[in-house]
Amino acid sequence: MNIFSVDVEDWFHSFHFIAPPKIEQWDNLPSVVENGFYRIVELLMKYKTKATFFFLGWVAKKYPHLVKESQKNGFEIASHGFFHQEVYKMSSKEFYDDLVSSKKLLEDISGEEVLGYRAPSFTLTNDTDWFYPNLIRAGYRYDSSLFPAKRGIGGLLTNYFAPFEISYNGGKLLEFPITIAKVLKWQFCFFGGGYLRLFPYFVFSTMAKQVAKEHRPIIVYIHPRELHFLKVKQRMSIIGRFKNSVNLKSTPQKIEKILKRFVFTSFKDYILTNYGKIWEE
Ligand SMILES: [Zn+2]
Repeated sequence: MNIFSVDVEDWFHSFHFIAPPKIEQWDNLPSVVENGFYRIVELLMKYKTKATFFFLGWVAKKYPHLVKESQKNGFEIASHGFFHQEVYKMSSKEFYDDLVSSKKLLEDISGEEVLGYRAPSFTLTNDTDWFYPNLIRAGYRYDSSLFPAKRGIGGLLTNYFAPFEISYNGGKLLEFPITIAKVLKWQFCFFGGGYLRLFPYFVFSTMAKQVAKEHRPIIVYIHPRELHFLKVKQRMSIIGRFKNSVNLKSTPQKIEKILKRFVFTSFKDYILTNYGKIWEE
């Protein structure tokens, strides 16, 4: 069994802009999050696939009906933080407050406990040693923010590739590192972001089989903006532009093929099936 996840944020939350739009401007920018979100829901429903939606607090506050729609269709709701700030740029206290406020907002809208968290752009680093203690203290039960390979922004080189447990002060948490596959001496994630769109389907499927042989789940992650393209004026670096826009046209078909051939569920269901109810006190 594998895990399907969606980071619910808008196009302007990408970290590839040379001068990213400021939080105060977000409200007045054109938006793709709703259209992209409904496209993803449609695909998941077509293949009767459960998934986890990591909502950005800012998006959930502006579009609470998207949270309700996810819940109505049986998807798990989790947190992607409130304002999409890099974790390593926050203080321990700011990070804790962000964790608590996004969790509370999502719980107020859904009436359900939020168990999981994913950091914006996988930005925990060697300097954020307060990352896991804060997550446990804020009441999260699992996390999927560790990107165990090199990356433009974020990423942390470790030897943890399979899910593992972390304990702190009597509390515990399950970490699900983003799925990495090894090609010769290099490590890549073929299951989300630019690489998922860049390579043809058979690369995904070959790498997925390699991961399955190592008894690890594949964690797919996508964004609404990948399913609803918007040509924007904001400047990006050449690499950023490439990563952000490569093969957007063929993405829906590729996702459809992946959903047809592989079995996915949400993090919550994966945990229930494989570990039991770890979040019960
Ligand atoms: Zn994000």
